[in-house]
Amino acid sequence: MYTVIGLEVHAQLKTDTKLFCGCSADYFQKAPNSQVCPVCLGMPGALPVLNQKAVEYTMRVGFALNCTIPDRCKFDRKNYFYPDLPKGYQISQFDEPLCVDGYLDCEVDGEVHRVRINRVHLEEDAGKLIHAANGTSQVDLNRACVPLIEIVTEPDIKSPEQAAAFMKALRQLLRYLEICDGDLEKGSLRCDANISLHPEPDKLGTKTEVKNINSFKAVEDAIKFEQARHRKILESGQEIVQQTLGWDADKGIAVPQRAKEASDDYRYFPDPDLLPVHVSEDWRDEVRGQMPATPAQWRERFSKDYELPDYDIGVLTEEKETAVYFDQVTEKFNKPKEVSNWMMGEIMRLLKDHDEIKVSASDFADFLQVIDEGQINRNTGKEVIEAAFETGKTPLAIIEEQGLKQISNTDELAQVIDQLLADNADQVERYRSGKTGLMGWFVGQVMAKTQGKANPKAVNELLEDRLNA
Ligand SMILES: [Zn+2]
Repeated sequence: MYTVIGLEVHAQLKTDTKLFCGCSADYFQKAPNSQVCPVCLGMPGALPVLNQKAVEYTMRVGFALNCTIPDRCKFDRKNYFYPDLPKGYQISQFDEPLCVDGYLDCEVDGEVHRVRINRVHLEEDAGKLIHAANGTSQVDLNRACVPLIEIVTEPDIKSPEQAAAFMKALRQLLRYLEICDGDLEKGSLRCDANISLHPEPDKLGTKTEVKNINSFKAVEDAIKFEQARHRKILESGQEIVQQTLGWDADKGIAVPQRAKEASDDYRYFPDPDLLPVHVSEDWRDEVRGQMPATPAQWRERFSKDYELPDYDIGVLTEEKETAVYFDQVTEKFNKPKEVSNWMMGEIMRLLKDHDEIKVSASDFADFLQVIDEGQINRNTGKEVIEAAFETGKTPLAIIEEQGLKQISNTDELAQVIDQLLADNADQVERYRSGKTGLMGWFVGQVMAKTQGKANPKAVNELLEDRLNA
């Protein structure tokens, strides 16, 4: 059996205001129905005004996904009745979306897999229903009319692992473009999966749609569940019923919701309150000019400018904040591989318990400089960074406070060593007469006299110099 999967991904745009009115689009943890106006409440006679920023953010996604942006797009009414949709229709884009025909490359087990993008369109989100324990339902319309983009793939995904890899690559891209926070748990990125199985490759069987997928794990789990269910039904000679299911992550099962409606059921028609949008070449150029670099462009630059191994680049560019931080540290302390080693080791380890890097890029660069000069050793350095994360103090302040700097100053060390040799003339004699194993004893003495702060390399050099004179 061959599996064919297509994804429909909804991403909330991080605009200041909603798609068709001036209400704040930031509804997270706001009092219910506090971010609303006649337009997003669907009052009769209230007219929508299109948010230009939302169109431009969608164009960014289109360019980054290698889409064509046609000269014209329009908005349509998608009619359905549900209490979270006050107008009785959702404003969406039907047959003339903003972006068409693109692709996104994602990596699965070291191999690049290309997923074609059918379209990216812009639409408004619905409100939220809250089902109370007493059996009543309430509606919060703060989310109504918040801009959403829907990204629809071609059925190019062949496995649950590929689906998860696509979602990760897409989330990373949207975050780098600074148009969506990509938070699956908060619902700013949501995904529905269409899945079908067929005995022959590249053929489509009857599909089902799984909704309510809100983590990367759920993407894989939900598709695996449906894959197994389809296979069992088909192998027993029965037929798949085309339907929509909801993923229940707690129980690990997909629960049937309703028979799948066809697009006819929505009675799409052009919204008479909104003019078609004309996209000129100048406007395209302007938006292209404002585009933040994509993850692929960052990776390419890290490879070219810093000559880092692919593995390092993958880790450092996974989150944009980390990549920016790396850039800033390297600007001040120009040993990229050294910076990378520290970031992939200690910093990543500490980030498991902390939500952000607690040391500024500039302070971290100063710290690496001190290590590079041999003023403290690596193991001490690890303790210092950990203490900096815990206390919020700068690494150099901690080094100073705890007196951790090694003594590399040769004059200071030479004094200690000369005194030591003068006090132990007999040991010096034994060394010079062939007992070179005593070197360790001398080093140990210097370390003891300096409370372990002497730079071992400098001590060895000075001792050899004096003893072999
Ligand atoms: Zn409003």
